[in-house]
Amino acid sequence: MPKKLKGRKGLLVVISGPSGVGKSTVVRKLLSIDLKLKMSISATTRPPRPNEKHGIDYFFITEEEFFDRDKKHLFLEWAKVHGYYYGTPKDFVEEQISKNQTVISEVDVQGAASIKESVTSGKIKCATVFIFLIPPSVDILAFRLRRRKTESEELVNYRLRAAIAELQVMEKYDYIVVNDKVDSAAEKIKAIINVEKERVLLN
Ligand code: ADP
Ligand code: 5GP
Repeated sequence: MPKKLKGRKGLLVVISGPSGVGKSTVVRKLLSIDLKLKMSISATTRPPRPNEKHGIDYFFITEEEFFDRDKKHLFLEWAKVHGYYYGTPKDFVEEQISKNQTVISEVDVQGAASIKESVTSGKIKCATVFIFLIPPSVDILAFRLRRRKTESEELVNYRLRAAIAELQVMEKYDYIVVNDKVDSAAEKIKAIINVEKERVLLN
């Protein structure tokens, strides 16, 4: 085997997109069709929604704990999103990447930009791919956010305004995937991952 390929490490797959576009739903599907993928579980100060479980959906922590972890440099990135803090635990991602695994990280557009900056500056040393999930239309996004029934109408409107702003950054991503049907969006992401794993790395 050529030397360069021998030393190859894992792949960090960053999936982003506006709130309510279906990131969690599509990622859940993706994890069920590719059991080898490792999901990075974020820490958040947001209270759990009904059915959400600590350590499965998020690590639900207090603001004090969040800033303590940030002070200890335990986050790969963090951002304030819709009034709450969210951060990606660094240890898990680094450990999995060093074991040659493919890690899925679902973050908002600020988190994705921050990871990209770390890759560019050499702080993160691994192959990365940035995927942006978009809704088939803004009307469909509004419909899905309202149907989820996890936010008040005021918060839904706030998230929709934010979504329209978030859609402006999509050209900074490597791939744009339309979440028309959950299954096909997950299959498209799986195909992207399979191709990216074969990419020739120059360093
Ligand atoms: P996000 O994680 O991006 O905020 P969710 O995964 O919570 O979004 O999805 C928002 C809502 O849209 C949920 O009620 C989910 O069931 C629904 N949803 C997601 N993807 C689709 C799809 N392709 N078709 C129809 N409904 C969808
Ligand atoms: P929700 O509260 O709906 O679960 O998530 C709100 C937003 O926070 C979503 O856009 C989600 O992708 C984003 N998010 C979740 N975890 C993280 C994280 O670790 N970092 C960042 N920057 N955003 C995150």
